[in-house]
Amino acid sequence: MDTIRVRFAPSPTGDLHIGGVRTALFNYLYSKNKNGKFILRIEDTDEVRSTKESVEVILSAMKWLKLSWDEGPGNEIREYAPYYQMERKEKHIYKKYLDELLNKDLAYPCYCTTEEVDAMRKEAQKNKFPPKYDGRCRHLSVEQRKQKEVEGKTAVIRFKMPQGGSTVLDDLIRGIVEFDNSLLDDFVIMKANGVPTYNFACVVDDYLMKITHVLRGDDHISNTPKQIQIYTALGWNMPRFAHLSMILGPDGARLSKRHGHTSVLEYRKEGYLQEALINYLVLLGWSTQDSQQIFTIEELIEKFSLERCGVSPSTFDTAKLLWLNGEKIRAKTPLEVYDLFVDWLKYTNNESLISGWDKDLLKQAIALEHDKIRLLKEIPSLVDFFFVKEVDYKEDAVMKTLLSEESKVFAEMVLVESANRLLEKEDFSASSLEQYARDFAEEKKIKTGQVFHPLRVAISGRTQGPSLFHMMELMGKDEVIRRINVAINKFFRK
Ligand code: GLU
Repeated sequence: MDTIRVRFAPSPTGDLHIGGVRTALFNYLYSKNKNGKFILRIEDTDEVRSTKESVEVILSAMKWLKLSWDEGPGNEIREYAPYYQMERKEKHIYKKYLDELLNKDLAYPCYCTTEEVDAMRKEAQKNKFPPKYDGRCRHLSVEQRKQKEVEGKTAVIRFKMPQGGSTVLDDLIRGIVEFDNSLLDDFVIMKANGVPTYNFACVVDDYLMKITHVLRGDDHISNTPKQIQIYTALGWNMPRFAHLSMILGPDGARLSKRHGHTSVLEYRKEGYLQEALINYLVLLGWSTQDSQQIFTIEELIEKFSLERCGVSPSTFDTAKLLWLNGEKIRAKTPLEVYDLFVDWLKYTNNESLISGWDKDLLKQAIALEHDKIRLLKEIPSLVDFFFVKEVDYKEDAVMKTLLSEESKVFAEMVLVESANRLLEKEDFSASSLEQYARDFAEEKKIKTGQVFHPLRVAISGRTQGPSLFHMMELMGKDEVIRRINVAINKFFRK
């Protein structure tokens, strides 16, 4: 069997969209599962909207996601390069096949202006016909064409679509889909400036790059009959097509910016892990028989198949993605989370957030909070109290735990006595500290909480946080006692 060759072919007209990543991912997994090749091709023929910045964003997002390509920018194979369509145009790769279609009378120059084409579409619509180009330049004679050229008219090249019958797509996900040819335009394959359009360039490149399977979003399904007709006209074998189901926002409309972040790098900025996005996106349109939810990349490569890709749309669920991110963070060691956090600070230019922080203490603080972290960006606010000279006492925590009518009766006593007793304490391990607090409560005939809560607020300024005694052990005796004394002076010795 021939080697499987698939491609991801983004147009660099903006950021890499969540839907695009899903397409790239399915191609990547399919190629790895089949021991094939994954190709990245940049479809930059839209000269108005394509930008270099967008290419950079796409390449860096793909690298971050570890969707590495076997061939493409930076990894050129002479037989198939270049991988940018505008560079291919400069090499006259498309012109050759355009001339072939013109010579076979399967394409023709069209001199109609945009205004004329718009008007004929409107007219057709008014008469309840499909809004298509009416083919008026199809039958121009050689003389008529010459005359137009003499008049200085510029021409686009249109493909002659068969006017009757149907085009049949045998889709690997959707099965047989039939398109009525009479509804299809003589579409433009080359613009007046010699730049090919997507439908034409895509077919030429998929053919020349020996692509065996085209996996793409189902928003392209209306392009597929046009592409099939070009393959047929040029007498080329076709790749197999597989159209991936739509991704919807929570309101049932196609996922778009108004539903929140759609650019993958926004998710990176928020502190999502690459693994979480990959794991989440694979579940949009693919599933295993037993509905497994969490996968490693190795498992995905092993299990992925087109047979288990569905046709029904899936809904993008941010809450589930967030949950998965927490799961992926917990699957790491605290040290790995620390490294990811440092990378994230660099990526978001936030390194100053931890300047002056003791890195060993930070690693241990992350270990204490490991279970709670859902996003890397949450880490500073979960652990910052370890590093401050002046504790930021939250008003509601102080009011509730130290100064309310019920708490002030014992809170001051707990803090004053603890400051003294802890000074004498040799063993400052979490378990010994816990024993100390329990014994103390028993001796004073108060509830354990009445000891734990004031201590926690005095030390950290808040009511929430990691296990109190682990936190105290990590902070160390001197700092714990210093903070307790600060709290006593601040709230009880005014
Ligand atoms: N350049 C097209 C896009 O970004 C590629 C579609 C295809 O995969 O054929 O949507």
